Amino acid sequence: MSDNGTFVAEVRDVPGGEAINECIQCGTCTGSCPNAKYMDYAPRKVIYMIKAGMKEEVLSCNTMWYCATCYLCTARCPRDVKPTGIMNALASLSVRHKLTNKKTLTPIFYKAFVDVIRNNGRAHEGGMMMKAYMRIFWKKLKSNPIKAFGMISLVKMLPFAFSLLKRGRMPLKAKKIKDRDGFKAIIAKAQSLGGA
Ligand code: SF4
Ligand code: SF4
Repeated sequence: MSDNGTFVAEVRDVPGGEAINECIQCGTCTGSCPNAKYMDYAPRKVIYMIKAGMKEEVLSCNTMWYCATCYLCTARCPRDVKPTGIMNALASLSVRHKLTNKKTLTPIFYKAFVDVIRNNGRAHEGGMMMKAYMRIFWKKLKSNPIKAFGMISLVKMLPFAFSLLKRGRMPLKAKKIKDRDGFKAIIAKAQSLGGA
């Protein structure tokens, strides 16, 4: 029977999710996952929920954002389902459907990372942290201003930042690649193909 148009088909069509229908619900992935206890739904359960069509519950949960990409589940899965790839597919779909989990800050860091890469053609930790923390600040300011000003406690990280700066490990100025327009075109193409 065709599963076209279902949530499981949508996951299967995103790179990483191709083998989802091979899952036999043995639970080896959950038993192997070091972060399962922090996830709203552990890997085996999240695959069950995808097959059950629970799109909104799955895409708004924290599971994929708590995946540490350690690949233990993928290495041990007896059916070669590649649950790590499914986690990546879910992260992508949750951004695409604007359902990202509200409690975790990981999507904000991912977005800041992609923005910095798009602008410079390579990573720049200082720029990424500035972008991410500014977005977290505005997000908190809108929902709970007291929590936003609680971020002042981050000043305790300044000595660490200065020591990275002094050792040249976190330069203030980003190094840029030569053909940034070409690189931006690659990112735009990836996004047009469904990348988040
Ligand atoms: S280990 Fe593989 S087959 Fe077993 S529940 Fe996890 S994904 Fe499914
Ligand atoms: S790759 Fe992610 S889901 Fe798989 S075991 Fe590691 S943390 Fe858990």
